[in-house]
Amino acid sequence: MTRVLLLDGLTEVDPTTPVLRADDLGVLRGESVFETCRIGNGRAAFLDAHLVRLTESARRLDIALPPGWRELAEKAATGVDDGVLRLVCSKGAPDAGPVGFALVTAVPEETRRGREQGVAVVTLSLGVTAEERISSPWLLGGVKATSYAMNMASLRHAHAAGADDVIWVSGDGQVLEAPTSTVGIVVDGTLVSPPAEVGILPGTTLGAVSGQVPFAQRPVTLAELRGADEVMLLSSVRGVAPVVRLDGAERPVGPVTARLRDWYEAAVRG
Ligand code: PLP
Repeated sequence: MTRVLLLDGLTEVDPTTPVLRADDLGVLRGESVFETCRIGNGRAAFLDAHLVRLTESARRLDIALPPGWRELAEKAATGVDDGVLRLVCSKGAPDAGPVGFALVTAVPEETRRGREQGVAVVTLSLGVTAEERISSPWLLGGVKATSYAMNMASLRHAHAAGADDVIWVSGDGQVLEAPTSTVGIVVDGTLVSPPAEVGILPGTTLGAVSGQVPFAQRPVTLAELRGADEVMLLSSVRGVAPVVRLDGAERPVGPVTARLRDWYEAAVRG
């Protein structure tokens, strides 16, 4: 069900059509930004929050974001019952402007499985302290740029260790995020997640579900993660996925995680 639509003219093109030049700075330097949204029932879910974040990511990479993203997203999602929508804006070639497009694909089966059956996770250190991440904006924490090679390398590391996913930890033992998800824990019935200030992406899924339960955003230590009542990964496409193994220790699917997962799936369908 792959579809490609260009921001320029809102035209749908054959999915095999090349849309970027070889000298595009997104291709050569990783200078492009993106959003990944879930499509439910013909609509891009929580689109407003994604567009806000796309704008902020473009600002941080000094990309002059062209207009028209809402119309592009709405057109791309039309007629799609359940799917993945990527909105991508590349910085473009030095003698041309930014290039935007939408890509619609199916939700991968393993993503669905992770949501339903849970994921096994290992923690990996990113080396830098949380304080250094906060004071080093050039590390681009919190920017959704397509430079995800390190994220993918982390996931390969997890797979080689027999796990599905990773939770990154700062050099001084603070929980950060996962390569494609936000981390949430439940402590005494409260959903707790690290603040964006530690240099992580402000998750739209976390933003959506956080109104459903008592919620606090504050630093979370590795020890707290391991001792939490529940641990979950949140992201637009996977939704709310229970962590059922953390650094080798088995964990049950908790009631708050299950409730938020069901709420999000219903909300995505509108
Ligand atoms: N953190 C990172 C690094 C991500 O790539 C993502 C999603 O792709 C998230 C968090 C979760 O964000 P959202 O819930 O908006 O999908």
